Order: sequence, then C-alpha cells, then structure tokens
Amino acid sequence: MTLLISPPPALARDIDGKAISARVLDEVREEVLALAEEQIYPALAVLLVGEDPASEVYVRNKLLRAKEVGIRSLEHRLAENASQNEVLELIAQLNADASVNGILVQLPLPAHIDEQAVIHAIHPIKDVDGFHRENVGGLVQGIEVLTPCTPSGCMRLLRETCGDLSGLHAVVIGRSNIVGKPMATLLLQADCSVSVVHSRSVDAPTLCRMADIVVAAVGRPHLIDASWLKPGAVVIDVGINRIAGESGPRLVGDVDYASARTVASAITPVPGGVGPMTIAYLLKNTLIASQLQRAVQLGGPQVVSVPVSG
Ligand code: NAD
Repeated sequence: MTLLISPPPALARDIDGKAISARVLDEVREEVLALAEEQIYPALAVLLVGEDPASEVYVRNKLLRAKEVGIRSLEHRLAENASQNEVLELIAQLNADASVNGILVQLPLPAHIDEQAVIHAIHPIKDVDGFHRENVGGLVQGIEVLTPCTPSGCMRLLRETCGDLSGLHAVVIGRSNIVGKPMATLLLQADCSVSVVHSRSVDAPTLCRMADIVVAAVGRPHLIDASWLKPGAVVIDVGINRIAGESGPRLVGDVDYASARTVASAITPVPGGVGPMTIAYLLKNTLIASQLQRAVQLGGPQVVSVPVSG
C-alpha cells in the first residue's frame, strides 16, 4: 500500500531588515566619510519633550546609530510641562544654526502641544522626518525632497526582495500621514498599481487578496492572516504592537506571521523587519539634508526634480 503524504507547504522566506539596514548604514557611513574630506560634518538634533518611556528607547537607539555612522547628534530635552512657545523657540534656534542639518521632534508630544504647529515650524530642508507639508507636496509631485523614513525603508526592502516593482499590484493597509499615504505615493512612483485599504474599506481581505505586495500599517495585532493573501504575495509588516505573552509583554506585527508565511513568498518579521530600516533612513535623510543644504549654500537649486513617468 502506498501512503500519500502531502508535503508541508513551503514557507515564505524572511526579509531580513537587520541585514538590509546594516547595508544602508554602511552606505551612509561611507558618504559621511567622504563629506568629512570637504569639512562637512552632518549633525542631527533630536528633541524629546517629556519622559515617555517608549520615546526614550526610540531616541536612545537613534542617537546610538547616528554615532555608529559618524553623524553628530545633539540631544535636546524639555520637561513634560514645557510650553508650546518653548518648543517653537528651540526649533527656531535649531533652524537658524547652520551646524545643524536635521531636526527630529520625537512624537507623540504632550497633549497640550499642537503637533502640527511644531512639525511645520521645522525648516523643510532640515525636516528629516519628511512630515512638513512642503515635503509632503514635493513627494506627491515627484520632486526629490526629504521623505518619511518608514515608507522609504519599506521601499528599499521591496526593491531588494522583488527587484523592479513596475506593474505589480500593491495594497497598502492604513492611510496615516506617517506611513500609509507616503507609502502609497512611493509605490505609485515605482510604477505599481496601488490600492489603499483603511478602516472604512468594505471587505478588506478580498481587496488584499488581489495584491502582489501587501504593506500593513494599521496598529492591530495579527489583523492580517493567510486568508487575506494571494499565494506568493510579498508582505511588509509595519505594525508594532505590544501584547501580553506567556513570559511577559512581547512585540507583534499587524500580520499573523505564522499563518501568513504559509501563503506568502516573503515576509518581514516583527521585530527585525521594518523597525531597523526606519532608523537607517532617518540617518540617510540627515545625510541628504546636509547635501541639500550644501547645494543651497553653493547657490544651486534647493530641490532637484526627478522624472515621474505618466
Ligand atoms: P495610525 O493609527 O495613524 O493609522 C492606522 C491606519 O489603519 C488608519 O489609517 C486606519 O484607517 C487604518 N485601519 C484601522 N483599522 C483598520 C482595519 N480594521 N482595516 C484596515 N485599516 C484599518 O497608525 P500609524 O502611525 O500609521 O502606524 C501603524 C502601525 O505601524 C502601528 O502599529 C505603529 O506602531 C507602526 N509603526 C511602525 C514603524 C516602524 O518603524 N516599524 C513606524 C511607524 C509606525
């Protein structure tokens, strides 16, 4: 008698954000060394208001990585009860200081401070988060501007995984200003057909099952499982959710990794996928900011147009 045993399903390969971000950081380090020969030393100012424990960890990691690639970092701390004017005054000083190339305000800010007013007080050419409306508009128009770090990092992961993205159907789940919208814009610039799924979408799993590329940026643990995915889809999980585990709290993504990898062809783990790319692209943006500022000092164009095909 012959027993028919079906082979276990092939599992998706991991997209190694740690390894790819290490390459991005190497590229930044090399360019920082080249700038040093011209007596240019890129510097990033990080502003933390209050003592939010998660923000403390993020800031510490950013400063550590900056040091590793030779970018000078300047840490500015204001008390939880600092007034909005104090924050705006500090930003005005940093804007005026030619030795500061990038300004990052760690979000979220305390509730009494208007986050938008703070973001838009940063000079667009020093806005390494890419959140200023001038940079957002430039991104949509296909102009080379400072672009949000997480979506930029996701694009690098996708390019290294898929090569040319042209013609692929990408579904972005989430439409925030920080991740979802800029992600959709970058995918469009890479000639993907792009759908954006959000909290009001009807039958999100069906829309998602049409996608070659799925980028999940929702903030809901394990929302997306194998039933949302087309066989062979490439999955980028931006979500970072803290849930209770057997041995204490642990981090999980928006995607149910164990389930999704039975259907996808490649997937980012959480942690170790998108997270390290965000910091790497923050430092890359600091480098780009110093190059853009140099171009302005030399009297060149402030922004460089890049062709966007129709
Ligand atoms: P957000 O809360 O601003 O936006 C969430 C989006 O999800 C919204 O646009 C909403 O319409 C959509 N949404 C909510 N419920 C939905 C549902 N049931 N189906 C489909 N869409 C739904 O969040 P954000 O700032 O974009 O962050 C999203 C996640 O990414 C969070 O977990 C955050 O922690 C994480 N994040 C990670 C990094 C990183 O470096 N890895 C960076 C930024 C954000």
